Amino acid sequence: MAKILDGQRYKCSLAAMQSVQAIPGAIPVLHSGPGCAAKLSDTIGSSGHYSPNIFPCTSLNEKDVVFGGTRKLRTTIENAMKVLDADLYIVLTGCIPEIVGDDSVSVVDEFREAGKPVILAETAGFRGNSYTGYEQVLDAITDQYLEPAPEGEREKGLVNIFADVPYQDLFWLGNYEQLAKLVSLLGLTPNVIFGYEGGTDRVRDIPKAEFNLLVSPWVGIEPMERMEKRLGIPFLHWPNLPVGAFETSKFLRALGEYAGVPSDKVESVIADQEGYYYYLIERYADLFLETRVMAKQFTVSADAQYSLALTKFLVNDLSLNPATQFVVDDTPKKYRESVAAEFSNLNHGIKAPVEFETDSWKISQAIRAHDYHGYPLVLGSYWEKEVTEEMYGHYLNISWPVQDKVVMDESYVGYQGGIKVIEDIYSVAVQRWN
Ligand code: SF4
Repeated sequence: MAKILDGQRYKCSLAAMQSVQAIPGAIPVLHSGPGCAAKLSDTIGSSGHYSPNIFPCTSLNEKDVVFGGTRKLRTTIENAMKVLDADLYIVLTGCIPEIVGDDSVSVVDEFREAGKPVILAETAGFRGNSYTGYEQVLDAITDQYLEPAPEGEREKGLVNIFADVPYQDLFWLGNYEQLAKLVSLLGLTPNVIFGYEGGTDRVRDIPKAEFNLLVSPWVGIEPMERMEKRLGIPFLHWPNLPVGAFETSKFLRALGEYAGVPSDKVESVIADQEGYYYYLIERYADLFLETRVMAKQFTVSADAQYSLALTKFLVNDLSLNPATQFVVDDTPKKYRESVAAEFSNLNHGIKAPVEFETDSWKISQAIRAHDYHGYPLVLGSYWEKEVTEEMYGHYLNISWPVQDKVVMDESYVGYQGGIKVIEDIYSVAVQRWN
């Protein structure tokens, strides 16, 4: 019997168009039906190079289902190259061409000598979701666009950073910027392909890096392994976004050790950053004390990246108690054990119960049924707002879909990010006592 999923938590693989849009100078060329992109794109900005509403598309119809859409793909790429001055054209296939068996690979191959790079990522919706679509774009870049750096052309200290899935995580821009700042603090050179500092030049710099830094529980592991194999770039895997002093200092120590940064340099950076962080916390100690009954327990309902990062922060830095945490990104089964283990890797021997669940109705039911011993604190998607309000709880919209706030370059990463989470949570909490 057909299963109805309540409250969608991600889009289909073709949402990879947003990962491409986040790279200045790259443009997605869609080989799909006309409705796909309309459903998948957002009007919340892109790389800044093109409007998020500019995407060449073959707009396949019934006739193309019967006779195939390869001719349309060829002319769409040709015309896109005439009217759009991009540095990298990434063709993304939707369900229709992959179901009817269009040979998109051969069509894209015809553009090898076209003067500008044209590559292909097979991102039909049935292949996966926004997270795997992002991985398919990275794989296409690795396999079809990049070559290993010639001997001696590696740049000591150059670090490629991969973390959030652009637009699936609304905080992606600020998060990448903060991660780049942390990397720079240790005297290393960050290379980020997405956002203001990113672009196709940064993509071409990937092979020169000393190593890749992957900050993510599972998204991106396979592309990093592929880059290691094909381009010879080793990678450091850090399993969660570092939020707040405890995790960020741990992260900097691990990064410093991997990169061979002298430990006295690392410790001096940490002392500097922690000094200001705890100065801010101390100034508001009274507020924390007075609002200690704000919530005895909390739940985070988000993708593995945020669920884990915020659970660690709320336990390790704010000493709050975890109720059940929900991971909503359809984490592949092979990674679930390692992701779940991180929820037990908390201070004071605390272990957070975790459930992998994509159905928002079931998550709301579980939150409703739990005894939070007072007001719950729920950090989640817009779908958790109703149940939290019903329980007179404190609610923060931090995961997709985000409809409660506008995010430009806000970030929850690092020391500064931890302070931002505190500001956001306590701004909600103090309203109860006003
Ligand atoms: S699931 Fe298929 S048809 Fe639907 S938007 Fe995604 S690519 Fe298009």
